[in-house]
Amino acid sequence: MHRFFVPQLYNETMTIEGVDARHISKVLRMQPGAQLQIVSDDGVSALAEISAIDSECVTVHCLEKLAESHEPAVRLILAQGLAKGEKMEFIIQKAVEMGAYSVVPVAMEHSVVRLDGAKAAKKVERWQKIAESAAKQSKRDIIPEVQPVQTMAQMLAANDCATKIIAYECEDKKSLKAALKEAQAKGALTDLLLIIGPEGGISEAELETARAAGAVPVSLGRRILRAETAGLVAISAIFYETGD
Ligand code: SAM
Repeated sequence: MHRFFVPQLYNETMTIEGVDARHISKVLRMQPGAQLQIVSDDGVSALAEISAIDSECVTVHCLEKLAESHEPAVRLILAQGLAKGEKMEFIIQKAVEMGAYSVVPVAMEHSVVRLDGAKAAKKVERWQKIAESAAKQSKRDIIPEVQPVQTMAQMLAANDCATKIIAYECEDKKSLKAALKEAQAKGALTDLLLIIGPEGGISEAELETARAAGAVPVSLGRRILRAETAGLVAISAIFYETGD
């Protein structure tokens, strides 16, 4: 369901104006009778139905107040290349605090850490407990799943999100912001797979595998971030852009 912000709820009839009105009428081509979610600046949300629409102003009628949710509208899955030592614990804890829906530890070609079999299962069990306690402290509505350790190809097959972004340290043309804008214009910012490499970076073969599955390579800026910093910077920028 598409969400739009209004300064305040809760009159029976509200208007959405400006860029959002143009997006609803011209891009989403919604018609009177269509339903959307409106959220006030202070986080109260309601289900609403469009009663009148033109390119400058959309009038909506509030149907019901929705239970308060702490979940982002965008389902973000973080696919993190296996990193050394306690870095994975830090990344999982912070990603869950910030609102990630799920985390996938990915065994990448340049990962120094090698995990398989019982050792991998034990690690995932520990990471799941970290996700659980981070979710509780952040008042999440869900406990994000830490998926089993997978290769890039397995992870892509199991997480076919509408938008896939791979942060690639050698990318110098497309920014994360530009990729998000394109996804938003296509209405594809419902679920997003974010791929981050390990300390040794992403191999060319992995980049091609991701690209072939529809992932867009993006830059996170002109400085190279550490493996444990990159995902958190990207998640924070994504949720800033989506208003989550
Ligand atoms: N050697 C450092 C370390 O020990 O952590 C740097 C690791 S960096 C290569 C790890 C991953 O972070 C990359 O594969 C990429 O996914 C992401 N990353 C870091 N800086 C980036 C940037 N400026 N643009 C895009 N991705 C970046």
